[in-house]
Amino acid sequence: MYEYLIVGSGISGAVLANLIADKINKKVLVIDRKNHIAGNCYDYKDENNITVHKYGPHIFHTNNKEVWDYLSKFTKWHYFYLKPNAVIEGNKVSLPFTLKTLREVFSPAMAERIENKLLSAYGYGVKVPILDFQNSTDEDLKFIGKYVYENVFKNYTMKQWGLKPEEIDPTVTARVPVYISNDVRYFQDKYQAIPLNGYTEMISNILNHKNITVKLNTDSKELDLNNFKHIYYTGAIDEYFDYKYGELPYRSLRFDVQTINKEYYQNTVVTNYPNDYDFTRITEHKYFLGEKSEKTTISIEYPEAFEIGKNERYYPISNEKNNSLYNKYLDEAKNNQNLHFFGRLGDYKYYNMDLAVERVLKLFNEKEK
Ligand code: FAD
Ligand code: UDP
Repeated sequence: MYEYLIVGSGISGAVLANLIADKINKKVLVIDRKNHIAGNCYDYKDENNITVHKYGPHIFHTNNKEVWDYLSKFTKWHYFYLKPNAVIEGNKVSLPFTLKTLREVFSPAMAERIENKLLSAYGYGVKVPILDFQNSTDEDLKFIGKYVYENVFKNYTMKQWGLKPEEIDPTVTARVPVYISNDVRYFQDKYQAIPLNGYTEMISNILNHKNITVKLNTDSKELDLNNFKHIYYTGAIDEYFDYKYGELPYRSLRFDVQTINKEYYQNTVVTNYPNDYDFTRITEHKYFLGEKSEKTTISIEYPEAFEIGKNERYYPISNEKNNSLYNKYLDEAKNNQNLHFFGRLGDYKYYNMDLAVERVLKLFNEKEK
């Protein structure tokens, strides 16, 4: 008999299971309806011995030392900075849009003029969300704002969300600001890395505890939840309540995974295609861990709307309407003191892995410590 049920063996569910098993010595049952652990962080070695990130490119990055130290107990790290490219006007340039990109896109004289304007308006090292340029009065700043909006954000965001940049939560596009810097890394966090033997192994190590049992291919709907004293749920809250107030919208993705019969396909791990084609980006997986192989594996990422029974939920779509629907479900959940929602789907929040772990560390301290 297990006192604790955790629904979902992604990074959120795994970390909570480990804390309960280890810190308070309770028996935990972790279930997942997929046939593997690790949720969206899942990776596997393919026939060419390349570690493939099944659900899209995952780079761990954080400024939170507690989170970093916690995960470091379960994995060694391959230190890694993400430096993607974007194809603009047919040319591969560096992304995010930095002073380097400015020089890649424009003539030296024009780049220098705009760089000086950016430096005097904002200063070196400042990150400017794309929508902030709309308030500029200076002609050059207005121009560069419009250029980056049109060439990097507008069409990518239309593909990714089915909406224009100004129609989505501003924190989403602010994840990739114009960076007035020569630092071309996608993230500036103190800790950036990929688990040396992959995410699946790291999460397997987190779950590997005498008090934890993992059951795959098991949906929470198949269990009698009354048998458990505490239920921690990382799935979608609207699904848990049988959509009684309506469906919460999510964005989904389709991955076209291909083996290419040459050593390298592109010159960096991720290339974004903001404007051309129907896909948003191409990931070449061997770059994550610097793996060598005669062939290479790529995945081409096509965004699509989430539809029940057709595809998976990947991104919550945060806006006033959806957040208030989410809160209705959360209020309903409060009727049961022993039921808790968390994780990217359970909280309906666009968490990176570090924020998902940070949330679990807090949740455990609040509820169980
Ligand atoms: P999930 O990984 O979604 O796990 C939830 C689990 O619950 C799933 O395995 C699911 O099968 C299971 N489940 C749901 N309902 C039920 C049910 N009723 N019964 C049984 N099981 C159920 N983060 C970063 O930090 N860096 C990155 O570079 C990065 N890149 C990303 C790229 C993409 C394309 C995506 C989609 C996400 C990316 N993320 C990245 C975010 C990262 O994937 C999430 O932060 C993380 O996976 C959240 O883990 P979770 O455990 O909360 O949720
Ligand atoms: N974005 C964009 N063009 C790009 C990269 C990002 O318009 O080349 C916008 C887009 O709206 C995207 C958001 O910025 O959804 C966040 O990008 P990020 O790379 O963080 O997305 P994720 O890796 O989480 O899918």
